[in-house]
Amino acid sequence: MPQSNQLASKAANVVAGAAVGAFTALALSSQPRWLLESGHPRAIFTETDPISQIPSEADVVVIGGGIAGISTALFLNEYGLRTVVFEKGFVGGESSSRNFGWVYSNGFHEDKLPLAVDAKNIWTGLANRFGFDVSVRQGGNLQLASNEEELEAQRAWQREASQRFPKDIDAKILRASELDELIPRASAKYIGALHQPSDGSAEPTHAVPLIAKGARAEGVKVFAPVAVRAVETEGGAVHSVVTEHGEVRTKRVVVAGGAWSRLFLGNLGINLPQQNITSNVIRVKGGTAHQGAGHGGGVAWREQIDGSYSIGVTPHPIPVTWDSFRVLPDFMPALRQLLKNPLNSPLTIRVGSDLLQSMRTNRRWRNDEITEFERVRMLTAKPLMRAGDRAVAATREFFPALADARIIERWAGVIDATPDYTSVISEVPAMPGLFINTGHGAQGFALGPGAGRLAAQLVAEQAPLVDPEPFRLSRFSDGQPLLLREFL
Ligand SMILES: Cc1cc2nc3c(=O)[nH]c(=O)nc-3n(C[C@H](O)[C@H](O)[C@H](O)COP(=O)(O)OP(=O)(O)OC[C@H]3O[C@@H](n4cnc5c(N)ncnc54)[C@H](O)[C@@H]3O)c2cc1C
Repeated sequence: MPQSNQLASKAANVVAGAAVGAFTALALSSQPRWLLESGHPRAIFTETDPISQIPSEADVVVIGGGIAGISTALFLNEYGLRTVVFEKGFVGGESSSRNFGWVYSNGFHEDKLPLAVDAKNIWTGLANRFGFDVSVRQGGNLQLASNEEELEAQRAWQREASQRFPKDIDAKILRASELDELIPRASAKYIGALHQPSDGSAEPTHAVPLIAKGARAEGVKVFAPVAVRAVETEGGAVHSVVTEHGEVRTKRVVVAGGAWSRLFLGNLGINLPQQNITSNVIRVKGGTAHQGAGHGGGVAWREQIDGSYSIGVTPHPIPVTWDSFRVLPDFMPALRQLLKNPLNSPLTIRVGSDLLQSMRTNRRWRNDEITEFERVRMLTAKPLMRAGDRAVAATREFFPALADARIIERWAGVIDATPDYTSVISEVPAMPGLFINTGHGAQGFALGPGAGRLAAQLVAEQAPLVDPEPFRLSRFSDGQPLLLREFL
């Protein structure tokens, strides 16, 4: 081809590429964003330490003031380590105050069950430990079975779990007639249920701020709003953290950053495969139904302390971001499972303007630069209006006692999931002194105190009460096949 034709053809390609790019950007920007920023915390206010008192040195720095970070700090302090928590927004402001509030071990996968059992024991002991109520109630957890196959799986779980933890698991199989006593007319649709009376809930709006109050009374320092920008190393090991208010020397750091952990660790050259999933809750008031928590047949509920009910909404949209493509190889087994039966999956993939927004996110930064953690103090998600209304209609139908209940609140939040829907509670082999406590998926509120104790035991080199093996970071890179566990 003559040179002038080649130039003309290249120019045409550039123009066509730019046109496609502009069209795609326009199409994406007109789509909804699923991940949103918020200035309105759901969590109650809790006092924190004055920023002027940030120490120049600490035994351990914990990044993130959610259930994972605050619980980790509580136990680190118990083990005699001077512990500082930095929270970029509000204590408990993100996922930990936007969740559904189930505190349970009913039906947990066998690998996660020891952590769930330990966590529940901690939850139920907090009021005694602190001398004040942190909003835990043991109203029971009910998982309904609509056919023999489901009921048989529940029987097998109940047998094994109660043999393994005879003191802690009090789950029973309920027959249809016993079910009717808890939920009038339930036997018309369900043949039985797995019921664990000692399970229950805590109020997401109150629990973490109150645990933070207790932890501070025991000696933990909590600073907010203070974003941590980076971890500095010396000879490859942790040497300090850099916050927006200066440096703190420490040899041990725990990253408990929830949905932000992948971004934070990525800047340190550490790959944590993590995908954010959004999730919705509706609160209704008026009428008394089952006075505990449970789910079945597309309805999930929890009675709150004030007598209103939280209702779970499906599906849970997975917003596609730039990072979704980078973690796609890790998430292939989970994606295959979703695509096998998309109409019955609780998850759904959504392409919206999050993709465009995420392309603008800075993934590498210098310590003197303002970071994404300072720009977005609190991450939330878009409430699904129509799906929410459907969930309320289904709940009203299932619980005649709630037929006249009215919607008083809708909210959404972000669930940070790993490729096997299992937490990462682990030291980072490539950076001595760096630990992770994150990726708790849809069960992190229940698991939080146990995850905190385990992380603290790893940091303090104490014998762990729970086997940390299923939670190690290296499972994503050691070539072993991943065991995909339940999302919910
Ligand atoms: C709608 C919904 C329903 C759910 N229902 C349940 C349920 O019923 N039961 C259950 O067990 N789980 C449930 N979950 C999951 C549960 O809420 C989470 O797993 C859990 O709260 C995670 O806690 P976390 O501390 O890891 O994260 P978060 O609570 O998100 O806390 C992380 C904190 O780290 C801070 N942070 C991040 N980066 C930095 C930085 N660089 N510097 C300083 N601070 C930083 C953030 O601001 C944030 O406050 C639900 C979640 C949602 C969204």
